[in-house]
Parts: sequence; C-alpha cells; structure tokens
Amino acid sequence: LGPTVVIGEILVEIMAKSRGDGFLEPIELIGPYPSGAPAIFIDQCAKIGGSAAIVASVGDDDFGRINIERLRSDGADISAISVSPDYPTGSAFVRYRDDGSRDFVYNIGKSAAALVSLTVEAQALLARAGHLHVMGTAFAIPGVWEMTDHAIGVIKQRGGSVSLDPNLRKELLGHGQTRERFARLVDAADLVLPSGDELFVAAGVEGETAAITALLARGVTEIALKRGEHGSTFFGADGTRLDCPAFRVTEVDPTGAGDCFGGAYVACRRLGMPAFQALEYANAAGARNVTMQGPMEGAASRKQLDEFIAVTPKNST
Ligand code: ADP
Repeated sequence: LGPTVVIGEILVEIMAKSRGDGFLEPIELIGPYPSGAPAIFIDQCAKIGGSAAIVASVGDDDFGRINIERLRSDGADISAISVSPDYPTGSAFVRYRDDGSRDFVYNIGKSAAALVSLTVEAQALLARAGHLHVMGTAFAIPGVWEMTDHAIGVIKQRGGSVSLDPNLRKELLGHGQTRERFARLVDAADLVLPSGDELFVAAGVEGETAAITALLARGVTEIALKRGEHGSTFFGADGTRLDCPAFRVTEVDPTGAGDCFGGAYVACRRLGMPAFQALEYANAAGARNVTMQGPMEGAASRKQLDEFIAVTPKNST
C-alpha cells in the first residue's frame, strides 16, 4: 500500500568514554553517531526491506550529513528530510553512570530537529504512505505532534495502518493536553509496541491481563510487548499469546534496542511474516543492537539477523 513512514527527530549522539557524573569536567568523548529514536526505527526498518521513509529536519552541517548518508545507504527514503540553513542538527551528549542510569545534555528544542513541518515533500510522502509509526517522542516537539495528528488522518483515510511505540514517561502525561493527545494516539493504533510499564500507561490500567484487554477493546489488533532480556510477547485480537525468548548477549550499550525491535517487527509484519517469526527477528535486532556501541550501529539486514539467529543461544523466558 506504500511505505512505512515515521515523523520525528534526527540527532547525533556523542558519548562519554568513561562512566561517572555528568559533563562537569573535560572528558574524552566519542561520536558523532547517527541517532534519534525515529531515525533508528526507520533505519532498521529499511535494512530489513520493504520501503521506509522519514519526515525530519537536520541542519546544513556534518551532523546532518552523516545521518542523511547513513539512512540513504541503508535504503531509507530521505526525500522528506529537510535541511535548515539556519539551525544546527540536534544533538544529545550521553554519559553512563556506574549504576547504568544516564546523564544527558540535549540540544533538540532549539535545533533543526524542532523545525519538522508539512513541506511539499512531506505531503507527497504522506499521500503515498501505507503505514505510520508513531513514537512517544512526538510529544516533545510541537511541530511533530501537529504533523503526526494530521498524518494519522491521511493514512487512515487511505486504508493504511498505524503503530505506536509509547516511549513516554508517565510524568509527561500530566502536562497540558498530553493525556488527551496520547489517548487519541492509542485509539488510532492498530499495533502497540510498549516496553515494560508503558503497557499500563498506554492502556490506562495496571496489570498485564487488564491492560491487554483494555487495549484490544479500544480497537488495537496486535500488541508486541518488549521485555528486555526476557524477550517479547505477542497478543492478538483473537486472544492469541506468543512468548518469544531473548537472545543471550553481553550488553554494551542499551540505547536503541527498543527502536531496532520496533523497526524490525513493523517491517517483518508489513512483509507478511507471521507474528512469531516477526518477534524473533525483532528480538534479534534488539539484542544485536545492545552488543554495539552507538544507538544505530547495530541495525541489521535480514541476512545479518539470520546469521545472528543461527549462532546466538537464547535466554529462558
Ligand atoms: P526499550 O529499549 O524500548 O526499553 P527493551 O529494553 O525491552 O526496549 O528492548 C527491546 C528488545 O530488545 C527486547 O524485547 C529484547 O528482545 C531485546 N533486548 C534488549 N535488551 C536485551 C538484552 N540485554 N539481552 C537480550 N535482548 C535484549
């Protein structure tokens, strides 16, 4: 029916080489790495196959160019990425603490990433899109929310489908119109891909069974629940439940696992694969990504995932 489309931020990530407290003293950094949750999602989607496109904005600088070049060479449609002459590409500086939590310094709100708008190219893309993937980060940037809201209407009218990765902190739901907007996204979604407690946030109720029942009652036809090192679970509208164990890997950098999982899952399902096979590819994409430093560096082709699946043992569920 047309490409899978995501709308949102493209960033570079620059990482501290050492663990510790923030960025209060000069430290060694590595990067820039292509990043931004929607960019990671669409890169993984494109690498699996099927058509995939992103609506985004970058600056006229090297940070923008490395992203465009990576997405282009991995097969994504970059026609709706606009290049701002006035603002730099968004960036995120990340440092891990010893307990695994992270400190961030972001430059997103006043970067090119915030300039996403309904350009002629974006309109042309939406007019031929078959699927829209919406991410919780849509709430962070006003232009992204407005376009997402518009795009849902366009896609639905064309008979296309919508997936939602509700990667949204619960605290944010208290802000302004966010709760009402978030409910609209859930109602529009055919597929929801929550991670951990996001399931309860999306459903508005606690408890796994109650949350799944509530989402299915709202018209969601499929849920792919991400469980980190415990793998993932599919819930279908007919009551089907499928548990798929995680691959046993050594985690180097957890950033991007959920986005790679989503990109692989959506691409596989859109290629017509059965749910369990899609879960297995998605688990492989998530697991492979955590073994590599850099948020998008582990995104993999179907052939690379087949090789990974063939040699990697699984955890018990
Ligand atoms: P998110 O990044 O959205 O919080 P998860 O951490 O659950 O999502 O990761 C998404 C998927 O990636 C998991 O369902 C799992 O298949 C895989 N994954 C993530 N972390 C690991 C890990 N440490 N070991 C094996 N697989 C992992």
